Amino acid sequence: MSSYNVLGIIGGGQLGSMLCQAAKNLDVKTVIYSNDKDSPAQNYSDDFIYAEYDNESKINEFANQVDVVTFEFENIPVPTLKKIQEIKPVYPDPNVNFIIQNRSKEKNFINQLGINTVDYKNIYSHKDIENIEKFLPGILKTTTLGYDGKGQYIISNAKDFENIDFKNEYILEKKINLQKEISIIITRYQNGNSVVYEPIENIHKDQILDTSKIPSNIDQKIANQSKDNAIKLVNELNYVGTMCVEYFIDENNDLLVNEIAPRVHNSGHLTINAYNISQFESHIRSVCNLEAIEPVMKSAAIMQNIIGNDIFNYKNKEYKSNEFFFDYLKKEAKPKRKMGHLTTLKI
Ligand code: ADP
Ligand code: MG
Repeated sequence: MSSYNVLGIIGGGQLGSMLCQAAKNLDVKTVIYSNDKDSPAQNYSDDFIYAEYDNESKINEFANQVDVVTFEFENIPVPTLKKIQEIKPVYPDPNVNFIIQNRSKEKNFINQLGINTVDYKNIYSHKDIENIEKFLPGILKTTTLGYDGKGQYIISNAKDFENIDFKNEYILEKKINLQKEISIIITRYQNGNSVVYEPIENIHKDQILDTSKIPSNIDQKIANQSKDNAIKLVNELNYVGTMCVEYFIDENNDLLVNEIAPRVHNSGHLTINAYNISQFESHIRSVCNLEAIEPVMKSAAIMQNIIGNDIFNYKNKEYKSNEFFFDYLKKEAKPKRKMGHLTTLKI
């Protein structure tokens, strides 16, 4: 099978920008499709289409302009992805989004493979609010469209449901005592072979990723298990591209999958500077069917996310040779908005 030279990317945020930069180094042309006219990724892509995700004629135009399509966020309507798939290959396959866009389907899929998640219960209507004691204290999460802690509510007792609007479906997860959070970045190629990056240790603040570091301070058994699970998941999904598996390690040192992101991921940004090949380049190589490269860690590293107005403390600053500042070039700094990151290599 030959390789693809023009890549369509749906979504135009920082992940799109970094995908375009990686593509450029591989001589792959990029077209960004986004419903945000201020998309930062248009600064890095060869072409930019600004339209809604259900605009059929624009979707057609986009699909006809490229050789292969991928995406930088998972919540694109599945019918849109399927429509594109009638014209050009889409990687990863939209069936993956169908599962992963819904927290209940996602957890069910993971558990069926014998991989553990936190205990949870579907809460679709008032009548589901019974026998919930074993999930308390818990976190109520909308089944769809949540990110960076959006659509999540702490539930201490049944009374806390009073303010919940049952227009949405939810899952109630047991709130566990986290010992640590880690993630695995894995890339599966079109021939079915995968490459796996070393586990990354993550710290969240206010449910938003704050720092990521490698190597992670975990025992070998957990490290192996986290990689083995990731391989099992991508194989089962017949996945093509880079995927992230977010894990919890609970107080008993048990490894649980928190969630799966069918895309490049914030915790993998340090791979740009700390590895011979970044998560972005691996993604481009796999979806464009280029030669696989085994990731090798060159250096220990820590990545600090820069949120909201903090970005102004980082702009126009001198950085040392082991520090790499990324400005996402977003038009407006808003609270909780990811504005940039700083990766520091420990050399
Ligand atoms: P999002 O989809 O918004 O990223 P997550 O489900 O990953 O939401 O939750 C964000 C963060 O909130 C997690 O990384 C973790 O720090 C914390 N969290 C989420 N669910 C639980 C839980 N069941 N127990 C303890 N902490 C949790
Ligand atoms: Mg998450």
